[in-house]
Parts: sequence; C-alpha cells; structure tokens
Amino acid sequence: MIRLKRAAYLIGFCVFLTLSGCEHSDMHSAEGEVVLKGKTMGTTWRVTLAGVDGSRRAVLQQAIQKQLNRDDEMLSTWKSDSLLSRFNQYQGEDPQPITADMADIITTAMRIGRKTRGAMDITVGPLVNLWGFGPTQRSPHAPRQREIDAAKALTGLRHLKLMERADGAWLQKDLPGLYIDLSTMGEGFAADHLARLMEQKGITNYLVSVGGAIVSRGTNAQGNSWRVAVQKPTDKENAVQALVDLQGHAISTSGSYKNYYELDGQRISHIIDPVTGRPIHHRLVSATVIATTALEADGWDTGLMVLGEERAQELALCQKLAVYLIMKTDKGFESWMSPQFKAFLRH
Ligand code: FAD
Repeated sequence: MIRLKRAAYLIGFCVFLTLSGCEHSDMHSAEGEVVLKGKTMGTTWRVTLAGVDGSRRAVLQQAIQKQLNRDDEMLSTWKSDSLLSRFNQYQGEDPQPITADMADIITTAMRIGRKTRGAMDITVGPLVNLWGFGPTQRSPHAPRQREIDAAKALTGLRHLKLMERADGAWLQKDLPGLYIDLSTMGEGFAADHLARLMEQKGITNYLVSVGGAIVSRGTNAQGNSWRVAVQKPTDKENAVQALVDLQGHAISTSGSYKNYYELDGQRISHIIDPVTGRPIHHRLVSATVIATTALEADGWDTGLMVLGEERAQELALCQKLAVYLIMKTDKGFESWMSPQFKAFLRH
C-alpha cells in the first residue's frame, strides 16, 4: 500500500503570524502591510513588507520572481540545463567554473557537513533519487541493498573540492558520478537573496520566505518584531507548536512528516542518512533552527534531523545553536530547545 504526501510544497513549516494568537495571515494581511506571493523551486515564496507604498507592488513582484527564477536556473537539479545540473552531468575531473553565489552555498554546506560528521551531505543526491524524492522520481518501492550500496558509492564530500582563485570559483570532483543535491539549502539561499534584494530596494521592514526558510528584518506594521509559529508535526497545516519573535534573524524547519510516502505501513522520509543510505527512522520528527542567515539555518536543520534527538541535542549545545526539536512518542509530541532558542520564544 503506497500513500504519497508532499504537502510541503503547498505550505512551509513555519506559519506567519501578523496578529497575536494563531491567526494565519495567508487569509488576510495586516493593515499597513504589503504581501506578495508566488511559486518557485517546487514550493511557494512569500514576502511581507511593512511601511511600503502599495503602488510598488507590481514592480517588486516582478523583481522578486525574476531573481528567484535566476536562482532556480543556477541551483536546480530539476532543470537539466541549470549550472548545478551541468556540473552533475560533467563526467570529467577538471575543475568547472561556478558562480560566487554557488561557491558560498557549497562552502557553507561543506562546513556544516564536517560539523555534522557527514550527516548533512549535499552529495547525497543519488540516494535521494533512488528513494524516489529527486527529479528522477519513480514509483516508490524499497530499493535493494545492492542498489543502495551502488548509490552510496557515488556520495561523499571528500570527493568534492572547491577552489576560490583570482579568476573565480571552481568546483572539482574526483568521482565522475558525483551528483550534488542542493535541495536542502537552496530555499535558505534564495530567502537570504530576497532579503538582500529588499535592502537594495531600500526596504528595511520585511519577512520573506521561500518554502520553509524565512528571513526577517525590522518590525511589522504594528512596530513589533516579526513573529512566526513553528508548526506542530502533523498533517494539519495550522497547528501551532511554538511562537517565536525573530528579532531580525532567519528560521528554517526540516521535518520528516511533510514529504514522505508510506510503504507497507512504514513511513519513508525524504531525509536520507548518508551512513545507512536509507531514510531516517527515529523519534525526531522536526528540527527548527534560528540563525543569522537562512542558508545557515536551512543547512543545520537537515543535519540535525539525520543525527536524531540525542546527537542533535549534543551538537546544538556544543555549537551554541538556537534549536527546537520535536520528538514523536507513544504519548504524543515531546519538545526540546537549546538555551539559545529560548531567547526567541514568545512567552
Ligand atoms: P529540507 O529538510 O530542507 O531538505 C530535504 C531535502 O534535502 C531532501 O528532499 C533531499 O533532496 C535532500 N536531502 C535528504 N537527505 C539529505 C542529507 N542527509 N543531507 C543533505 N541533503 C539531504 N521540487 C519539485 O518538486 N519540483 C521542482 O521543480 C523543484 N525545483 C527545485 C529547485 C531548487 C533550486 C531547489 C533548491 C529545490 C527544488 N525542489 C523542487 C525541491 C523542493 O522544493 C524540496 O522539497 C525542498 O527544497 C526541500 O526542502 P524541505 O524544506 O522540504 O526539506
């Protein structure tokens, strides 16, 4: 029996709140705020602006969509002619030129990859595809062990080298089949990029999101810090687990409950443990990270999800990360937060 669930593309993991309580602002925007929305990267984007003249709406909408389209054309594995796909298709070992933006993402990915001891690994693409979550989707079925071993043999950050030289950034692989999947960090990168676009436009009070990655700056129309809700890890889209005041920070959530299918009664998550080559299967169902950039938050949340509750807690404490974890138990949901996260919690 197979059941597919990909609701993550319809709504992000964090619910926007412009009013107190559990009001979901998709239904109406607060007075004095301009809300722009659209689609990108297989998900949705949303930008809420305070103190901006509504007459700028059309121009901003166009500029945002144009920039997101460019990011998509650079980072997508779902587009065969993107810069990333061309690198993935290249079977040689010569360094390939990449953009400064892509170099930034890969640098952050490699750092978080090292700190999570390979739990967050952007070379996990062959395994993601094998389990039916990538662009080369197939009808879901459990792959055989030899298929998993073959896909695993194509992974590993050690096979990837980034070089920043006077003539630009270059990326090299020593394994022809190495395939980079930036799905875990692309949304965070795009959200940060939108934030920079707002700054260039002279806008200083905004809340922008791409999928589950959100960046805030300044205040909402009431002059308060932007407030978002971490969603309960259930299929109900508006169930609120925790409320946070972002205070100019970014937030991202990774969860095993939004993008999965069921196979013979077992939930198959889109988050893959690079060590086993299999979807994660433990009590930790959601990891939320607050950081100075959405790229950073978006990289850590997936890594923590792979590690599971105990190792995720250890790493969060050791790295002083602002982390909120939700575990599913027989009695319902349990949560844990690091001291750094507590500072953002709205009491
Ligand atoms: P996150 O938890 O942030 O990331 C999970 C994803 O990361 C997995 O789906 C997998 O791809 C990857 N991953 C799994 N395990 C690991 C691991 N251990 N380490 C690192 N990465 C891992 N989807 C479409 O359906 N159609 C599209 O056209 C499309 N285009 C996209 C274009 C771009 C540029 C990007 C970045 C994504 C695109 N997606 C598309 C993918 C879709 O939006 C993803 O589901 C989303 O980016 C994953 O985000 P998340 O918040 O759901 O999960």
